[in-house]
Order: sequence, then C-alpha cells, then structure tokens
Amino acid sequence: MIANMETDIRQIALISGASRGIGRAIAGQLAADGYDLRLCCRQNIDLLKQTALALQAQYAVNITVCCGDLADPSFCTGLMKDLPRLDLLINNAGISHIGLLQDMSDREWHGILDTNLSSVFLLCRAAIPLMLREHHGRIINISSVWGSVGASMEAAYSAAKGGVDAMTKALAKELAPSNIAVNAIAPGFIDTEMNAHLSAEEKEMLLAEIPAGRAGTPAEVASFVSLLAKAPSYLTGQIIRFDGGWC
Ligand code: NAP
Repeated sequence: MIANMETDIRQIALISGASRGIGRAIAGQLAADGYDLRLCCRQNIDLLKQTALALQAQYAVNITVCCGDLADPSFCTGLMKDLPRLDLLINNAGISHIGLLQDMSDREWHGILDTNLSSVFLLCRAAIPLMLREHHGRIINISSVWGSVGASMEAAYSAAKGGVDAMTKALAKELAPSNIAVNAIAPGFIDTEMNAHLSAEEKEMLLAEIPAGRAGTPAEVASFVSLLAKAPSYLTGQIIRFDGGWC
C-alpha cells in the first residue's frame, strides 16, 4: 500500500479514460503500487467495472468508477467532488480525429478540443484545491508526440495536444511553489484501439519508421507513469517523449 509517511493515510489517484488501452494499464499499475483509485470513462462502464472489481480483488485497494462525457464541463467538475484527498491526477482520456482540416465541422473541432484539452483544464482546476490542502500532489498529462511535431490529417488533435503541452509547462511553474509537480508523457505509437483504424499495411509502414522497430505497449506507458509519480517534485514542467526513438 502507498501511504503518506507522515500521516499513514492512503494515497488516491484519479485516472480519466480507464476502461481501455493506456488508461486501463495505468489503473492496473497504480493499483499494484497501492493507490486507491477513482476511474472514469465515457460509455464502456461494464468494462470499467470489471477492471475495478478485478483490481480490488487482486490488490485490496478501494476503487470507485464514474461514467460520463469529459467534454461536458459539469461531469469534469463533479468527478472529484466527494474525494477526501487527491495525490495523483492522470489526465489520460483522449480521442483522435483523422481527416483534412478543410473537411472538419465545427462540432468535430469542438469535440476534439473539449475532450483532449478543456477536460485537462477542468480536471486540473478541480484537483488543485485538494492538492493545495496537502501541499503535495502530482499531475501527469498523457499528451502525444503530435503535440510538438504535428501530424498531417490530425491538425485538431495536434493542436489540442500542443495545448496540453503548453498548459503542462505553465501550470508546473504556477504550482511548483506548492510542491505540486506537473508533467506530460508524450507517447508515439502505442498498440491500442485508438489505432484500430490502421490497415496492416499502414501499421507496417509506421513501424518501419520507429527505431525501436515496434509499437509501445500500454503496460510500458503505465510503468513509466508509475516511475514519474514517484519522482521528486523538482522534476516538473517536462514533456517526456515515449516513442521508441521515433520523433
Ligand atoms: P483508447 O484505447 O481509445 O481509450 C480511450 C479512453 O478514453 C477510453 O477509456 C474512453 O472511454 C475514454 N474517453 C474517450 N473520450 C472520452 C470522453 N469524452 N469522456 C470520458 N472518457 C473518454 O485510447 P488510448 O490509445 O489508450 O489513449 C489514451 C491517451 O493516450 C489519449 O489521450 C491519447 O491521445 C494518448 N495517446 C495515445 C497514443 C496511441 O498510439 N494509442 C499515442 C499518443 C497519445 P470509453 O471506453 O468509455 O469510450
């Protein structure tokens, strides 16, 4: 069990988008590390509940689950209302959109920005008072390499992740005096449903560009999240690429 050394109180982490992919792997890793968890997803609540039950049984941690749309500000604001404390916030949920910018509708644009960027603002805003109370906390944003290098056909997603990177750096400066570290992990190509639209041929072409010669796994991202959560708070404001040497 992870406990605050001075008070012996259990540590709590909130992970957005924990029903599948990277978020589910992070939930597994942090449960193994002894955190109590609050997990959320948009629609796959049965999957999320199954994950929570399995982790509770395996690691004897407390897990609560919530289902709702992070593009809805009231869902974000309400997510941590009844938490007694919050030690670690993982802003992981995200969606991609592939297509030419000139074909993108206003609705699609706002959907990408609201889910990938505004939700990070809203969850950080709700988390900060809980962390300030303890003069302690960690925020880890799951960004993307596209946030710094940009991707053709993914301009909105790249803009949103670039916004996450800038917010990470700025918020780190704002919160460093309060012993709250804010960092981002920027994955490259990770093998999840987010890439299910790729054909075998497209996947092969992508892998050929990656020096590591393979996609990363959700478990690898999760183990890095766990390391970063344990790092000294002096490590803050960093956007750390996690891409097998790709970008
Ligand atoms: P994924 O397998 O598609 O899972 C996405 C998760 O986010 C699911 O739990 C989903 O819930 C949740 N979610 C999506 N939209 C939501 C919303 N509006 N409200 C609440 N929850 C929502 O994605 P992933 O590949 O694990 O990606 C996780 C993060 O890593 C994302 O931020 C993504 O941008 C980033 N990333 C991924 C890759 C990659 O190659 N996979 C690369 C770079 C960065 P439901 O199951 O209920 O839909």
